[in-house]
Amino acid sequence: MDDKLFTMIFTLHSGIKGTANLSSKQVDEFIQCFKEGRRYVTVVGEEYFGINTETVSNFRVSTGRVEIWDNFSSLHKQIESEKNESITNLIKAYDGPIRAKIDCKVCGRVYVTELEYCMEKTYCSGCRNDVFLQEKVGIIRTSKGMGYLYTNERKVKQ
Ligand SMILES: [Zn+2]
Repeated sequence: MDDKLFTMIFTLHSGIKGTANLSSKQVDEFIQCFKEGRRYVTVVGEEYFGINTETVSNFRVSTGRVEIWDNFSSLHKQIESEKNESITNLIKAYDGPIRAKIDCKVCGRVYVTELEYCMEKTYCSGCRNDVFLQEKVGIIRTSKGMGYLYTNERKVKQ
């Protein structure tokens, strides 16, 4: 098969994301199934790829052919606006003062505080030792809501 493959990215209702490399014919077939709410089964490389399109909340694939997008422009617009909204909310929520959970192993204090912004380093109010933003941990649930974790561990340099 000398057909060019396109990477389709899809998100299931459960939030799980997946990708599949499909030929443009397979993309058409998938879209047809998606419209009709049918299961789609095909062969990708040496693997069978099957998906129940009713469990797919959205997908995107660019084949460089406009007509595919035309059918779904309203659907895509809706998805885009929802996505932008949630991103904006996220930025709004974390622009400015942030919540920080300080987990100090030096003096054993664990507390939730507010910082002016998401700084890389602050200090423990108990022993004044430096604590560092644990970027890898991301946003965590604290006793006062979502926030960032700070511990004595310095960021590991890659
Ligand atoms: Zn401390």
